[in-house]
Amino acid sequence: MTQTLTTVPDVDTLREWRHDFHRHPETAFAEHRTSQRIAEILTEAGLDIVTGLGGGTGIVAILDGKRGPGRSIGLRADIDALDVTEASDAPHASRIPGKMHACGHDGHTTMLLGAACQLARNPDFAGRVHFIFQPAEESEGGGQVMVEEGLFERFPMEAVYGLHNWPGLPVGEAAVHDSAVMAAFDVFTLTLTGKGCHAAMPHLGTDVVLAACQLVSQLQGLISRETPAHQTAVLSVTQLHAGDAFNVIPETVELRGTLRCFDEPLRAHLQQRFHDAVEALARFHGLGVAFDYQPRYPATINTLEQAQHCAAVLESLPEITRVHHDLPPSMASEDFAFMLNARPGAYIWLGNGEESAALHNPHYDFNDHLTPIGVNYWVQLVRQLLDTPSVD
Ligand SMILES: [Zn+2]
Ligand SMILES: [Zn+2]
Repeated sequence: MTQTLTTVPDVDTLREWRHDFHRHPETAFAEHRTSQRIAEILTEAGLDIVTGLGGGTGIVAILDGKRGPGRSIGLRADIDALDVTEASDAPHASRIPGKMHACGHDGHTTMLLGAACQLARNPDFAGRVHFIFQPAEESEGGGQVMVEEGLFERFPMEAVYGLHNWPGLPVGEAAVHDSAVMAAFDVFTLTLTGKGCHAAMPHLGTDVVLAACQLVSQLQGLISRETPAHQTAVLSVTQLHAGDAFNVIPETVELRGTLRCFDEPLRAHLQQRFHDAVEALARFHGLGVAFDYQPRYPATINTLEQAQHCAAVLESLPEITRVHHDLPPSMASEDFAFMLNARPGAYIWLGNGEESAALHNPHYDFNDHLTPIGVNYWVQLVRQLLDTPSVD
């Protein structure tokens, strides 16, 4: 049953909601307070909600248009925070030690709530909108969990849309990509085990430090020699742990890092060649190997038709001064990719301001001036996409 809201959330209310989420950041699959607050706001607005999704804290709200049956779409916001200690003395700074909304998901949640409330008050469209509040975007794949537990079977929808605030891009500017937006994301942990020995007599042992250094150099060959020059991939070894003394060659060394690219066949090829390189190195040096290579998120790839719809909506908004069509995709990753693998759709960037600290930086804060723009984008996307009732 859908009731009619008496008021639409104004800018002050939106800021209040955003600051409340920001003060109480919760990380992957533990967004209990956040989820409860989202449910309260949606219920007060008269929307039908389904809770307990995506491992427990995910929510889908359903809104039917008053102009009869029609198409069905999904709008998605991520709700989780990060394990980062906030460097801010703002009144709305995090009250949870070691956790903060350093990626602006507090703002994403607020914008989608604002749109849900506004559309609930006047559902002047045909068809059905699903407002998807997804947990655990940061590294833990809450989007994958929602898709695998049957998001699109339980809530049939023909297309799905997402967005992210974008530091460095002025508020009022947006970016739309016709295809790839964000990269695929893999991580690896590699432990090489040799025979420790006195540093003065390396011939009596097997030197894992030398082997690890050779491997770090050799792995860059995956990018320069195995990746076609017209494609993009990046590999970073980000951790290297070994040894305790000046005069001891250690027994083990551990390497960790990440590999990112856009193309699935290339991704599989690089993973295979990575294994080959490790195997060959271990054989040459006589080392034992424990290798854990985990593919995490696929690349986030927009479908052209849906990207063009989003661009047209953005270009129709008076608050949007410029829509970029030619920004390079980001090598960062996004688990909305799992939803885009299952349904057509598009994921756009909205400027968080040129002065904004980078995403995941302890000084980062979502820009409250962006909130009403994001709300209006969602509302107009629904009104323009679900303009026509179905004829049957
Ligand atoms: Zn993030
Ligand atoms: Zn994010």
